[in-house]
Amino acid sequence: MIPPPINPQKTPANYKFRHKRPKEDGGASDKIEPLITKLLTEIGENPRRDGLIKTPQRVARAWREMTAGYSTDINKVFNGAFFKADYREMVIVKDVAFYSLCEHHMLPFFGKVHLAYIPDGQIIGLSKIPRLVEAFSRRLQVQERLTIQIADTLQKKLKPKGVGIVIEAHHLCMTMRGIKNASSSAVTSSMLGIFRSDNRVREEFLKLIT
Ligand SMILES: [Zn+2]
Repeated sequence: MIPPPINPQKTPANYKFRHKRPKEDGGASDKIEPLITKLLTEIGENPRRDGLIKTPQRVARAWREMTAGYSTDINKVFNGAFFKADYREMVIVKDVAFYSLCEHHMLPFFGKVHLAYIPDGQIIGLSKIPRLVEAFSRRLQVQERLTIQIADTLQKKLKPKGVGIVIEAHHLCMTMRGIKNASSSAVTSSMLGIFRSDNRVREEFLKLIT
């Protein structure tokens, strides 16, 4: 049965997908493999030639990994990672590398996430930030939504005084096809709480990440 369509704009961070993702076994039972074999044929290749014989299996495995975010439980990412602290200054984690897939072309877009928050009584283990980024980037995405989902989730779970995020990314659908503008990058941002209401906070953040 085909699962009902999901509107990602309305999909909350902790949405449980109703259709179960098949286990990543890389075996013959994987439903992605025959699709890749078909794709190879459609583009004019011979899927039975030596170099391609294991390609469907490898592609299936790669896609399971690159879309693992769908099955990540956001609550588990944060489990036990909050600590009480009196620290009242800005916490910045910058240059967090990420790799995602654009939902319009299913081609990679990748770059760096710069994220900051000002604590309100508690802080989060710093290693959780890259994991949060990974949970949302390993899906079909648009950069704008990725930006908002990371910021909103951190704001909601950690309840800091505010969150600021800037994402810079290169999109292969822009550089490899279409307008082929190799040097262009896209920048998105989201400012919540004090990062939105206080210009000085926002400016300090932007200064510290450039
Ligand atoms: Zn695209």
